[in-house]
Amino acid sequence: MKCQLCAREISDNVSECPRCGFPAINTTDESEETRRYMQKQADQFAAGLLKDYSVSVKVYAYDRKEDGSLSFKEEREMPLAPQGSLLYGQTFWNEQEFSANKKLTLDLVCRGRGKENRVQVTALSPALPAPWKAGVLVYRDLTAAVIVGNEDVNTTSETFDLLG
Ligand SMILES: [Zn+2]
Repeated sequence: MKCQLCAREISDNVSECPRCGFPAINTTDESEETRRYMQKQADQFAAGLLKDYSVSVKVYAYDRKEDGSLSFKEEREMPLAPQGSLLYGQTFWNEQEFSANKKLTLDLVCRGRGKENRVQVTALSPALPAPWKAGVLVYRDLTAAVIVGNEDVNTTSETFDLLG
């Protein structure tokens, strides 16, 4: 059967989904009322889960040497979606503006509940003059993507697994 929250295929003899922890409920009742009730449970569970997760992006700082060349200085993490900001089925927009080349490569660090998931995603620059904003869209199966641009015009990165 499928997890009622994250849609992952799970075996019939587990009490909860190994990926997201939502109780494994095998219901044959497919009435609209039951469907709505399950959706509400799943939404609440997902909101509670997402409170514990964050997404950061690694940024690399360079120093310009006297001869004009760049030397690597440091790597640090910038919060893209700080803990408590991720929204189920919606995009959290970071207010920080930035510009970049045609194709953005983002090294992400997803953290939550003692787990850490490092992924690299790419996004094309949006058809919009820079600077842009970036946000994190959480899909209903608890995968996510980085959105670049603004609320109206944007591009979407590859999907990554928020839960690791
Ligand atoms: Zn699940």
